[in-house]
Amino acid sequence: LPKKHSGSDFTIFSEMTALAQKHDAVNLSQGFPDYEIDERLKKFLAEGTEKNFNQYAPMSGNPLLIENLMEFNQRRKIEVSKENITVSPGATYGIYTALASVISFGDEVIVLEPNYDSYVPAIEMNGGKPVFVSLNEIFEVNFDALQKAITEKTKAIMINSPHNPSGKIWTKNDWEKLSRILENTEIILISDEVYDVLTYDDQEFFSAFHHPKLSERCFSIFSFGKMFHLTGWKVGYVLASEELSLAYRRVHQYLSFSVNAPAQYALAKYLEVFDVKENIKTMQNKRDFFLHQIQDLPFTLNEKAEAGYFQILDFSNISDLSDKDFAIWLTEKAKVATIPVSAFYHDQKNTGKVRFCFAKKEETILKAVENLKAFL
Ligand code: PMP
Ligand code: GLN
Repeated sequence: LPKKHSGSDFTIFSEMTALAQKHDAVNLSQGFPDYEIDERLKKFLAEGTEKNFNQYAPMSGNPLLIENLMEFNQRRKIEVSKENITVSPGATYGIYTALASVISFGDEVIVLEPNYDSYVPAIEMNGGKPVFVSLNEIFEVNFDALQKAITEKTKAIMINSPHNPSGKIWTKNDWEKLSRILENTEIILISDEVYDVLTYDDQEFFSAFHHPKLSERCFSIFSFGKMFHLTGWKVGYVLASEELSLAYRRVHQYLSFSVNAPAQYALAKYLEVFDVKENIKTMQNKRDFFLHQIQDLPFTLNEKAEAGYFQILDFSNISDLSDKDFAIWLTEKAKVATIPVSAFYHDQKNTGKVRFCFAKKEETILKAVENLKAFL
């Protein structure tokens, strides 16, 4: 059978979660919370089925959800109408569909590495060619290198801010630099912004959609999975100009057509009570709790995560193993599972770093740290 992409047969997230289960290790690898979702979400979901939101939702999304997303975005100064919003079955699907709707065979798509693992397969499955530009040691963009990577075949650029695995946030200035580079081109942005409401230490989140010029040429992709801590619901949404939304919906209507109806009802209701500040506070406390607990361990912390679910730590003081082998060893022996950062590079080169998910209960973090202390 044809293999349509250069990605793995099993993603690193499935692989490490399976290994954690096999060895009964604390799973800080795949990014999912182990704490309860807000009780109100459960109630709204039940209400969705009771109110008979059990048949196909409209193709672009439940009208109340669209309405509430318009308001939610307006509050953070992103002005969008219903023509700009399409609800998606998760961000992975949103990224794939955005790519499928704009790229043709042979088009080049620039990917900033390290990058989330679905980008390259999604580009390749649609006939595109990934062109890699490395972020620097502290995950900042080298805009000169980015400019040099652009050719007449460049159709799109993939951006991810806040960034997985590093938690780095694009500043207003970064977006401005990108805008200047793209000025006389037709290049489209696919901007993965799933950690938008998880930015710490009073850092501001800037969407590509905040930028007046970039918003005309971008897809900004969001996930309720990360926003409301329910990764299993697999619902997200995509913001795009009217023209790009039309292109997106042309594909979407033949891929999944629409998205889980009772979940959309519940998400719409929850948006009415969702408190972004509270969400940030809770998650920043989790990051700080994790950092406090690991401070006596022999890992090196180069930079605190600015956002998201993850903290990268350097283990080169502990071992000479490759990061993949180290992550396996740590799971099997210390009973703590992490993600090797090499998994976010196309050549899987060793980085000497692993990624820990801190979106966990305190007791889970404590157990992981106890295991590490006993072993390292
Ligand atoms: N992009 C990034 C950067 C992610 O970390 C994830 C995982 N939440 C996704 C996309 C996929 O999101 P979803 O589960 O909504 O498909
Ligand atoms: N986004 C999650 C992470 O980075 C994984 C999602 C998945 O398992 N595909 O850990």
